[in-house]
Amino acid sequence: MKTYSIAVLPGDGIGPEVIAEAERTLEAVGERFGLDFTLPRFAIGAAGVAVAGDPFPADTRAAVARADAVLLGAVGDPSLDQAPRHLKPESGLLALRAQLGVYANLRPVTVFPALVNRSPLKADRLEGVDVLIVRELTGGLYYGEPRGREGASAVNTLRYSAAEIKRVARVAFESARQRRRHVTSVDKANVLEVSQLWRETVTRVGQDYPDVRLDHLYVDTAAMRLVADPRAFDVLLTENMFGDILSDEAAVLVGSLGLLPSASLGEGPGLFEPIHGSAPDIAGGDVANPIGAIATVALLLRHGLGLAEPAAAVERAISSALEQGARTRDIAEPAAPALGTRAMGLRIAGLIAEAQRSGAPVTM
Ligand code: NAD
Repeated sequence: MKTYSIAVLPGDGIGPEVIAEAERTLEAVGERFGLDFTLPRFAIGAAGVAVAGDPFPADTRAAVARADAVLLGAVGDPSLDQAPRHLKPESGLLALRAQLGVYANLRPVTVFPALVNRSPLKADRLEGVDVLIVRELTGGLYYGEPRGREGASAVNTLRYSAAEIKRVARVAFESARQRRRHVTSVDKANVLEVSQLWRETVTRVGQDYPDVRLDHLYVDTAAMRLVADPRAFDVLLTENMFGDILSDEAAVLVGSLGLLPSASLGEGPGLFEPIHGSAPDIAGGDVANPIGAIATVALLLRHGLGLAEPAAAVERAISSALEQGARTRDIAEPAAPALGTRAMGLRIAGLIAEAQRSGAPVTM
């Protein structure tokens, strides 16, 4: 039996709660498909500051380099809002992404038919929405130097090289080939020189993919179209900050931030995390939705370990749970009864196991 080593970084706030359910899912997948996962845990974010005085402690740094894949909950703690930058939980996350060199962040946004009424958009706009956001993750404004505060002014730097743009563009075009063969590249080329380089470079990469339709949108138009006509998108390719903002906007289509997974890929081990943050407002209350973290396990299996069928089994179990009416508070009808984090995790793990007992074919 092959053993996979997953470095598990629960992080802060609701991170440990939703990650416990992701681990339960991996255990259910292991039993059903005869796979062995070792799940050593390491601190990151405020939890890293608490145990080692560092949001990305040295043993976490060493462990993620050795792992087959990295599973992260979320980081962030209001008690460190005023801390110096090197002690902020978010600095640990940025350092983790930089160390792993995970330059391409994949965020699939698919509307579950069972939840169309939980979205603020009208149901007829949502049917068939299936967008893959490919966000550049290790460059741009969040990493550019110089940066800092100087008295009453402050500076950040937006810088991209053609090589950085090219490699993430290839991920978008390759992904489009597995989907509906349409890439929409988002920039602000009417104002920013970096965006002009972005547009030129993506166009050049696109020439290697004549079977994939490419168009370009300014970020303000893209933000509007994402809610006005979300079905217009297949693969949406963009830089780091625009992607950060647009992917949270896209989350609204689905009904809750708590539903969405992400995969961050580079040359080494991939980093897999739900898109939500540490949600301090609900931490510790067993109310967080674990589906984003469980769907993240599906991405980890598919993109991190190359296990397509176990990934599909997890996604089927999530859909079945929702079709059967299982709801956490964030996606329940107002005043309707809701499951806690753990109960939702148990329900989905049970469905993975049940498919085995009911004799669903296992193909790998
Ligand atoms: P957030 O995603 O933590 O929460 C936004 C809102 O969504 C909150 O009302 C929260 O209760 C709700 N929510 C989020 N996840 C949910 C879930 N699984 N189930 C139910 N409801 C959920 O964003 P925020 O409040 O802007 O940030 C809180 C902290 O998280 C900050 O410190 C921020 O820096 C950090 N953060 C971290 C990441 C990350 O680790 N990747 C991402 C975003 C924010």
